[in-house]
Amino acid sequence: MELTRYAGGCLCGAVRYAAAGPARNLCFCHCASCRRAAGSPSVPWATFERARFRLTRGALREYRSSAAVLRGFCAHCGSCLTYRNDARPADIDVTLGSLDEPAALAPQMHVWVADKLPWVPITDGLPQHAGGAGSG
Ligand SMILES: [Zn+2]
Ligand SMILES: [Zn+2]
Repeated sequence: MELTRYAGGCLCGAVRYAAAGPARNLCFCHCASCRRAAGSPSVPWATFERARFRLTRGALREYRSSAAVLRGFCAHCGSCLTYRNDARPADIDVTLGSLDEPAALAPQMHVWVADKLPWVPITDGLPQHAGGAGSG
């Protein structure tokens, strides 16, 4: 099977990565942690197999934003790049906004809508989950 390849990186260019598809779980996350991490009302994400993700330049700085979660960013410019959850050790989530061609992967749902800000309307008709993707 031919895997679709993706590349991306941070704003300043110090950190570059490559990932091979399939990209799963394409979503807008409205959770309060993503909001603060990115300084943005929601963050679009894609999940890749960790074995198919690698850095091609620089290094990620990671910190624990909650007990099970490691968020990766560029230590120079601060771009939010990755999310790892101890509950899904084979996965890594990547911010769609850091891809070189972000238009290629469109979010397919909204998650953590219970945390959504009231001034963010959802008008795209995509499925909405109150919590994570498995929730109502
Ligand atoms: Zn950077
Ligand atoms: Zn989130």
